[in-house]
Parts: sequence; structure tokens; C-alpha cells
Amino acid sequence: MSKLFVVSAPSGTGKTTLNNRLMKEFPSVEIAVSHTTRPIRDGEVNGRSYHFVDKDAFRTMAKSGQMLEWAEVFGNLYGTSKQELDRIFAKGHDVLLEIDVQGCRSVLREKPDAVTVFILPPAVETLWKRLEQRGTDKLADRWRRLLTAKQEIEACHIYSHFIVNDNVERAYNELKSIIVDGGAPSLSHNDGKRFCEKLIDEFRTSELLQDLKKKLG
Ligand code: 5GP
Repeated sequence: MSKLFVVSAPSGTGKTTLNNRLMKEFPSVEIAVSHTTRPIRDGEVNGRSYHFVDKDAFRTMAKSGQMLEWAEVFGNLYGTSKQELDRIFAKGHDVLLEIDVQGCRSVLREKPDAVTVFILPPAVETLWKRLEQRGTDKLADRWRRLLTAKQEIEACHIYSHFIVNDNVERAYNELKSIIVDGGAPSLSHNDGKRFCEKLIDEFRTSELLQDLKKKLG
């Protein structure tokens, strides 16, 4: 029977690289194409990266019950349509949802058997540096993404599995083991929650972040 997976991670944690590699190696796992109202970025393809729609079209879909879940993220609307899920399930494939924490919470209400994975950065300062290296956002936007990451990490106890992305190869093998082999992650649920608490603490104690907060907060 087809399975449903949710993989979430703060921006800059490397989730997309890991998920895309998994999909390439295992074509029976498909990433559901979400709908979004955010503008299309260079290199993205409508219908493949996302279904890009305007706010009215999105709201009509949501109101008429066509969405499995939807949420507002960074000021734009994002959602997974039930039709997209049915399309993938009809092929007998597993579905991977690359969605945020609010979306995961809604999915668990509808589909409590979904396997949920949260990918964590090894340290908060590493996350900040990765956001800087990506070079796609302005300083204020990067700071907003970091504050959102804090909120997401604070809420991540709802996930069943945690992966720390300190090494891409190791993180990929863990993801593969959970999704393809149904294996257990190397971090237990309690250790995962403890790791999240350590990260939350770093938001408070990191000198780098305190300096940024004075400048931007
Ligand atoms: P981006 O704009 O960078 O592609 O995605 C921004 C955020 O929106 C990411 O955290 C991503 O996981 C989340 N996201 C993408 N698609 C969906 C969706 O269908 N539902 C929800 N709830 N979040 C989504």
C-alpha cells in the first residue's frame, strides 16, 4: 500500500537536496507538487516546482475543500491538493510532502498514519551561515527565515523522526532508511527533542545572533 511521508525543515537545512536525490534514486517515491501564490523564481517550472496560482484561485480551492492542507508561509499561501495526492496514489507510488510545520499538523489530523520527518541543522550558527551562502535573500529576509526556523524547531515535537544534517551523505542515508526501508532513525524521539532544545538554547546564547538581534530585532 502507498505510504504518506511529510518531510519538513527550516530553510537552509538542505531538505530539497536530500528529497530530490531520494526521488531520483527511487522513482516510486514522488514529491507532491504544491500550489502556491508566491511569485515564480528563476529556474522554476510551473506545474513541476509548484502550481503557481493567484490568491483568488487558491482561496477558491481551499474554500471548496480541494486542499488536504494549506498554510501561510512568509506572507504567501502554500497548499497540497487532494487531487495531487490521488494522482500519485493511483500509480501505487508513495507520496512525500515537502511542507512546513503548520501543514504537517493539519496532515496529521487527516492522516494520523503519515510518517513525519524533521531535518535539523547541526547548530543555529551553521543555519545562519547556510542562509548567507545561499545568497538569495536580503539580510532582513534571512533574519525572518531564522526567526521562523526557531518557531518551527519549538513546535517540532509533533514529528516522529529527526535527522541532523551535519553531513549530507549520512543525512541522506538516514532519510533513505526511514522512507525506503521503514527503518528507525539513529536519533530516538527523545534524543531528537533534546537536540531541538539545545538548538533553541543557542538562539538565546549565540553571540553572533545577539549582535544581529541588536542590529535588526
Ligand atoms: P519556498 O517558497 O522556499 O519554496 O517554500 C517556503 C516554505 O513553504 C517551505 O518551508 C516549504 O516547506 C513550505 N511549503 C511548500 N509547499 C507547501 C505546502 O504545500 N504546504 C505547506 N503547508 N507548506 C509548504
